[in-house]
Amino acid sequence: MRSVRNALDQLLLPAECLLCRALLSFRDCHRIVCDVCRHRWRPVRAPWCARCGQPEPLFGRCRVCADWPAALVRARSAVWLEAGARDAVHALKYGGLPRIAADLASAMASLDLPGRGAAWLVPVPLGPGRLRERGYNQSESLARALSRRWNRPVVELLARTRDTVTQTALTPEARLANVAGAFETRNAEGGTRNGRTGECSAFRVPSSAFQRPLILVDDVFTTGATLAEAARALERAGAGTVSAVTFGRALVPDFT
Ligand SMILES: [Zn+2]
Ligand SMILES: [Zn+2]
Repeated sequence: MRSVRNALDQLLLPAECLLCRALLSFRDCHRIVCDVCRHRWRPVRAPWCARCGQPEPLFGRCRVCADWPAALVRARSAVWLEAGARDAVHALKYGGLPRIAADLASAMASLDLPGRGAAWLVPVPLGPGRLRERGYNQSESLARALSRRWNRPVVELLARTRDTVTQTALTPEARLANVAGAFETRNAEGGTRNGRTGECSAFRVPSSAFQRPLILVDDVFTTGATLAEAARALERAGAGTVSAVTFGRALVPDFT
């Protein structure tokens, strides 16, 4: 199904930049976003909290990551979620354009994460309802694009236990409650839901999986609540080192 969708994308889309509509050069015709638009994305840069990568505040205890599970040692985002970067995420999520993941991953590829050379990439899963609606998990598309750049495998270690409401309109407290207990690790015995089709399949998680450095992959970091909850589920299953990487980071997290 997905390959059919990709093939249709290729046939139907003119070779122009999704964001500015400029024609793409022959060299870039496999891309969705042109060079100019990608260079407009504003990188998230140090100084920042060494753990969560949030560039504020630089005094006292960081409020963003204070309550994170111990296993979640680092989170980094490639660019600020503004203007063109926001449109690109929108296209990835709602535009039915999983191919744009390669352009987003190119902005994420240089992010420094602990144990990256030996890590497994773990996409943050969608709930079953949203997955049916969208037809693909945008975080998995990103993880697969990153995996091609980093030459590390994508392992779907997590499943959502339920659909959660969209985080966008929620206060920080409501976000925490919304995602609390929302993730479980896939287990070898029962086999959990197959993320793509909703069928049951025996998914055997190798016992060594949780000893490796794991890197959670998601599209956007807003308050970090979703990533922290996903890391908590991995930690419960025995993971020692989890880090997280996102394409975008929300400009003003509403912590007040
Ligand atoms: Zn462009
Ligand atoms: Zn922090």
